[in-house]
Amino acid sequence: MDLEQTKIPQATAKRLPLYYRFLNNLHSQGKMRVSSKELSEAVKVDSATIRRDFSYFGALGKKGYGYNVEYLLSFFRKTLDQDETTKVALIGVGNLGTAFLNYNFTKNNNTKIEVAFDTNKERVGQKVGGVPVEHIDDLENKITDLTVAILTVPASAAQGIADRLVDAGVSGILNFTPARITVPNSVRVHHIDLSIELQALVYFLKHYPLTGEEEEEE
Ligand code: ATP
Repeated sequence: MDLEQTKIPQATAKRLPLYYRFLNNLHSQGKMRVSSKELSEAVKVDSATIRRDFSYFGALGKKGYGYNVEYLLSFFRKTLDQDETTKVALIGVGNLGTAFLNYNFTKNNNTKIEVAFDTNKERVGQKVGGVPVEHIDDLENKITDLTVAILTVPASAAQGIADRLVDAGVSGILNFTPARITVPNSVRVHHIDLSIELQALVYFLKHYPLTGEEEEEE
């Protein structure tokens, strides 16, 4: 890519998805340009920082004009498609949630659980596996730049939480609860029920044992 993107500082890179989402909204409203003041108010980053960030993208705002939305968006699209780490939220710090937080997915993957949520007062305010646990009431405030969430709450809480996640802009949910959740078509849900997987394995071992030869027995 010929754009200057090799030396973007991490702190700037972290703000890209924020800018990106806001600019996308502007773009879909048909806006062609935006001032750093407008951006600053929307994404809650001071305008000096925004100007500095944007200078790394080769976007120099013009006085009285601001920034070209289309240009910035095309830059962000190219940049964000690279090897950026996807930040993930986890909801429900029970046994399973705790295990995921301790494991985190950073070893083989460019995904990382950044924040977790629970209702349990004893958990809220703690860190598990280095990840802060927030109260579920703060969900909308704390996941403004996250698009992926892992659900490890009880089944009865799954749909309500999923609705809130979707409203907050989450577009991918890894659902470990046995509940089938309903989401808009634009949201992807992957459903993993570990107990069913285990039962299925046991069933297959019993009824379709592998012989170690070329074919499975009936
Ligand atoms: P697991 O099912 O992961 O083994 P568990 O048996 O320890 O967990 P569950 O009752 O399944 O406990 O609850 C998982 C976690 O979800 C608990 O820490 C619980 O406090 C939390 N939780 C329950 N309801 C909600 C909710 N509405 N929002 C957020 N967290 C919740």
